[in-house]
Amino acid sequence: QATQGHFTIKTEMAVDGGYDWDGRWNHVRKFLERPGPFAHPDFEPCTESLQFLLEMCKILVIGAGGLGCELLKNLALSGFRLIHVVDMDTIDISNLNRQFLFRPKDVGRPKAEVAADFINNRIPGCKVVPHYKKIQDFDESFYRQFHIIVCGLDSIIARRWMNGMLISLLSYEDGVLDPSSIIPLIDGGTEGFKGNSRVILPGMTACIDCTLELYPPQINFPMCTIASMPRLPEHCIEYARILLWPKEKPFGETSLDGDNPEHIQWVFKKSIERAAEFHITGVTYRLTQAACSLEVFKIASSAYIPLNNYLVFNDVDGLYTYTFEAERKENCSACSQVPQNLQFPPSAKLQEVLEYLMENASLQMKSPAITTTLEGKNKTLYLQVFNFTEHTHFFYLGLSDGQELAVADVTTPQTVLFKLNFTT
Ligand SMILES: [Zn+2]
Repeated sequence: QATQGHFTIKTEMAVDGGYDWDGRWNHVRKFLERPGPFAHPDFEPCTESLQFLLEMCKILVIGAGGLGCELLKNLALSGFRLIHVVDMDTIDISNLNRQFLFRPKDVGRPKAEVAADFINNRIPGCKVVPHYKKIQDFDESFYRQFHIIVCGLDSIIARRWMNGMLISLLSYEDGVLDPSSIIPLIDGGTEGFKGNSRVILPGMTACIDCTLELYPPQINFPMCTIASMPRLPEHCIEYARILLWPKEKPFGETSLDGDNPEHIQWVFKKSIERAAEFHITGVTYRLTQAACSLEVFKIASSAYIPLNNYLVFNDVDGLYTYTFEAERKENCSACSQVPQNLQFPPSAKLQEVLEYLMENASLQMKSPAITTTLEGKNKTLYLQVFNFTEHTHFFYLGLSDGQELAVADVTTPQTVLFKLNFTT
């Protein structure tokens, strides 16, 4: 019934007391209960598929932001009812233009809870369970309960962690992967006017870390490089942005706004000064803007039919989409089960290993902690908070050729094993 201009929708149009009134799922039945030219070759039309979708299939949506709102709405309208959503953020007023499950009254409340309430109220029978938490707060037993996991995350670190978690759930018998241990991961990502969607079958198809080189190069540089030995134009921009901005407060207490030309101009001017001091060329206004720019707009698209396996969507000049098959990387540090080799001369310092772990395009670690076994005892070689070893030579740390190093990092829930091979 309508009340004062807006509608109360939670009217139960029930048949036999249930939510599934006549014709409710006709749009889904068209796909599941009749053949079609684009169906999977093994597909047999049946009514059980819809029942599975409605009553059994458990989906986890990670992120309740721009992509997450779209995902929840699409999944719920497609008949998925057992949906969990994880998001650690609260709603900010700047989210309201695109995260359409939120209203001004919701500002400050957890995104997961508001999104779940909205969907559950709007779509009868849907049971979205919210988790106002970080993905790292859950262990294997939580993730194992889902049939499919859909990621709408804006952080590569979180995406890699999730990827690593699903790889850790795989079980192998005599080196053969048990297919029942695979939980498909559908990953959506957006940046500006570009988007992508990909299907990952952990252990079978290319994982996030297999294709790490596809992601934009990291713009986090080691702080000591920025502060004392810049080599690239980017280091100068980071110096102005991270160190000078909070110190000089050119616009008072306001934080740097990548959309504000005056702010960018200030960072540009300071970067040029810094670059001149260190004889670095190549600082341009355009690069400054790129380094500082905020995500402006998000578009969403994600599907749970097997896409093989990477869809790119580009809306910069007209509209352009294509798909390709991202290939598995034979020695992927996340999914290959192949030991990772590190090649260094015996005279190298731990600092060089750290830089390699962080700067190598296929590793891109953020704050690696390194441990090893020396004379039968576990020894911590490097931690961010305990970092006076970084300028020490291997020899003084007791490291020898063939030494195994265990590296923990925020990009993975498991430690990654490396083998130190001395070069001559
Ligand atoms: Zn991989």
